[in-house]
Amino acid sequence: MGEIAHIEHSTAAAASAPLLAVRNIEVVYDDVILVLRGLSLDVPKGSIVALLGANGAGKSTTLKAISGLLKTEDGEVTRGEILFDGERIDGIDPDKIVRRGIFQVMEGRRIIADMTSIENLKLGAFTRHDNEVASDIDMVFRYFPRLKERTGLAGYLSGGEQQMLAIGRALMTNPRLLILDEATEGLAPLIREEIWNCLSLLKARGQSVLVIDKNVENLARIADRHYIIERGRAVWSGTSEQLIAEPDLQHRYLGI
Ligand code: ATP
Repeated sequence: MGEIAHIEHSTAAAASAPLLAVRNIEVVYDDVILVLRGLSLDVPKGSIVALLGANGAGKSTTLKAISGLLKTEDGEVTRGEILFDGERIDGIDPDKIVRRGIFQVMEGRRIIADMTSIENLKLGAFTRHDNEVASDIDMVFRYFPRLKERTGLAGYLSGGEQQMLAIGRALMTNPRLLILDEATEGLAPLIREEIWNCLSLLKARGQSVLVIDKNVENLARIADRHYIIERGRAVWSGTSEQLIAEPDLQHRYLGI
């Protein structure tokens, strides 16, 4: 199947109102640097969608456009629209986007070092007014048992444990869409495996996820759909089976 056909296929599938719809967006940094050039993608409810592409293709920029974090880097969506549950969210402040149910775990983790794991997790729940916070903390400890054993300050956790805590804290916001930038980058193999397992469990419970990671093999195990980004546009979209069946794609766009 040709590349355009893949994108058209994705657009047709979107007819049934995806949770997230990115429509033909352009993103500019510092008023002049055009980075995204008409990028479109969908995240259907309950699906895991992966963004692939070479360094500098525009993957992180896409995530930041969705979560509103572009604003903190003097970036702006200058064309197109981003719809979450049918409502425009482009241009909205990041804290309002969190309240609508989108939470991004940023590259570099950003946990609070002088708080314990539990305090960090509780902080994640600050926007919630339900009675499930304690049971959700237990859920995070089931996903990442080693966090429960480490009762000291989060600053003393290993890099991998901090990433687990950052994901746990994101889950405590009860996100309708969880966004992960470089989910397992720079982590030890054992820790990576625990994070992939957590993502499999999240998939099983119907969590919608948009993720960037360099490990295509593991992504193909869990993702329902992949988008390959090149120079600010989605140039291919397909299922894990289609991605694996076309090794030249990985060679051409990802240098694998
Ligand atoms: P990587 O895997 O290397 O992070 P990426 O696909 O996530 O790559 P982006 O980080 O989105 O790519 O970067 C896309 C382009 O935008 C790059 O050319 C980068 O230099 C530029 N860019 C990213 N952030 C900024 C910024 N804050 N100001 C100006 N240009 C930026």
